[in-house]
Amino acid sequence: MLVDSHCHLNYEGLIDRQPEVLAAARARGVSAMLNISTRESEWDAVVATATREADVWASIGIHPHEADAHPDMDRAKLVARADHPRVIALGESGLDYYYDHSDRDQQKRGFRAHIAAARDTGLPLIIHTREAEDDSFAILNEEMGKGAFPALIHCFTASADFAQKVLDLGLYISISGIVTFKNAKELKAVAATVPADRLLVETDSPFLAPVPHRGKPCEPAFVVDTANYVAELRGVSLESLAETTSDNFYRLFNKAQR
Ligand SMILES: [Zn+2]
Ligand SMILES: [Zn+2]
Repeated sequence: MLVDSHCHLNYEGLIDRQPEVLAAARARGVSAMLNISTRESEWDAVVATATREADVWASIGIHPHEADAHPDMDRAKLVARADHPRVIALGESGLDYYYDHSDRDQQKRGFRAHIAAARDTGLPLIIHTREAEDDSFAILNEEMGKGAFPALIHCFTASADFAQKVLDLGLYISISGIVTFKNAKELKAVAATVPADRLLVETDSPFLAPVPHRGKPCEPAFVVDTANYVAELRGVSLESLAETTSDNFYRLFNKAQR
């Protein structure tokens, strides 16, 4: 039994065949999925899916790409919308300097609003960071100093040094299908060495299909392929990795029931 800690079931490519996608995941032993929101207009749909499907949970958040489109997003709005039995997380939020789709100051403002909401609600924050390690760490370090909050770095692609720094702050690390790509050498090393009690796996579907599904839209069923690859890197069985990462999921996202 595996948990996909990060998927976008309401994105194009999955929404149009959601029943089929959920059935395929269940058939491969995926016991739970966390359906992530990225903009306010998505929140109702993401919560509705989680309300309809017992094994799907929801997050409430604004992706850094969408920061410019949500100039009024603040902690109060996030906290209010997260007050729902199927919402177990905040995010994804963070900083993305690779695409720079939103102004960097707006991204930082949004990131800090999500952190404040995570502190208020006790819900874990799902963090997206790409080509923004220095600023992401500076904000996390400063904000943790003001009051700890639970968090994870999703779809980890940063350096081993950044991994160590966020682990030291108490964060979890989630590994996506990128780990199966040939050129992801440093990520393979990180996936092999993250402490067993801080490791999660995810698809980030419909993006980033792992080997051997490259070129297809990614879907939660493929978390099994990523988990299998990570298990081999760590020299453990798939069953053992599934148990460890599921335990970690329910410890971190402690509003979710098994
Ligand atoms: Zn992301
Ligand atoms: Zn995502």
